[in-house]
Amino acid sequence: LNRRLAEFGTTIFAEMSALAVRTGAINLGQGFPDTDGPDEVREAAVRALRDGRGNQYPPGPGVPELRAAVAEHQARVYGLSYDPDREVLVTAGATEAIAASLLALVEPGDEVIALEPYYDSYAASIALAGGTRVPVTLRPRDGRFVLDLDELRDAVTPRTRLLLLNTPHNPTGTVLTREELAAIAELAVERDLLVVTDEVYEHLVFTDETTPAHLPLASFPGMRERTVTIGSAGKTFSFTGWKVGWVTSTPELVTAVRSAKQYLTFVASGPFQYAVAEALALPESYFTGVREDLRAKRDLLSAGLTAAGFEVYRPQGTYFITTDIRPLGDDRSHGGDGFAFCRALPERAGVVAIPNAVFYDHREAGAPFVRFAFCKRTEVLANAVERLKAL
Ligand code: PMP
Ligand code: GLN
Repeated sequence: LNRRLAEFGTTIFAEMSALAVRTGAINLGQGFPDTDGPDEVREAAVRALRDGRGNQYPPGPGVPELRAAVAEHQARVYGLSYDPDREVLVTAGATEAIAASLLALVEPGDEVIALEPYYDSYAASIALAGGTRVPVTLRPRDGRFVLDLDELRDAVTPRTRLLLLNTPHNPTGTVLTREELAAIAELAVERDLLVVTDEVYEHLVFTDETTPAHLPLASFPGMRERTVTIGSAGKTFSFTGWKVGWVTSTPELVTAVRSAKQYLTFVASGPFQYAVAEALALPESYFTGVREDLRAKRDLLSAGLTAAGFEVYRPQGTYFITTDIRPLGDDRSHGGDGFAFCRALPERAGVVAIPNAVFYDHREAGAPFVRFAFCKRTEVLANAVERLKAL
């Protein structure tokens, strides 16, 4: 393994899902739903397969139907207009979109600022691109993990090339507010930074008095021309195995990202691209239904984890709950060590979770936090809660 990748072992998701299979524990670790997305979307994929659409290499930028649907979605939901021919690129999931964006836009030695804890592929993609990651730590305050805007500002140096953002944020469930996004936008304009923004959980937001709707960074003044926005069908439509993602940006930035993408996979997911085009055009009631379903599950698991003795950071978006294990006491929390806790949990309680420390450079800052996924059937969550209460 070369030096760029030497620090990265097997991803925690593979490790923990294998542990779940081996022990038969309930898997609240890796984020994937235990029920598939809508039947009509599955049928659309079957139709595409049967009609021979996408069974051979699709066009490099993605099939025209999907590019049009992505552009239509950005216009309908956010009032953002993108030219489907020049400003939309289909990728093999958001993972490839992230990797291709960094490979295309970062020079060796450039600094890339990422919110810590960060999704694990960010660190590896920055490393593959030869960049230096500069984490800015989200810190718990009043029940939410919060970005310190002064810290973000201080992290920018003359070597900073881009900000890699994620809202709604995995693993903390934080949704950045209008004010926070406006400040980030101002900073990006002032310091002439590019922004790659991972918005794969855009539809999984539990709006209430304290939670803003998801706002795309590209909709802020001066941002459209410097922002690469990333989306994915995996989360919104519950088809994580299809690996259909997309990028929207300016023609120049999309062309740059495509230059890298074409040598990673060239193209992917032919028939599924047609199906996702139909999914993006589902009525608003679909998107509302997903949110309502997940909100109930968030509430169930939050209440259960609280009752089991965890401190719960109630997420505003995504399908993850971050908890602090220290209130469980020294014994049960393995001295507040999330890694040790998660390694032992399948045997001790029959549940799998993810130690947030893997998403940190400052491991000690993430040590006591553990993430549980709630994109599971209600009875599965209820069963997990009973097991955790008996811990
Ligand atoms: N970004 C974030 C924040 C994620 O949580 C995930 C899914 N785990 C991805 C990107 C990857 O998405 P995809 O499956 O579409 O590659
Ligand atoms: N994004 C999912 C998570 O955070 C899983 C991704 C993966 O398995 N690579 O759990």
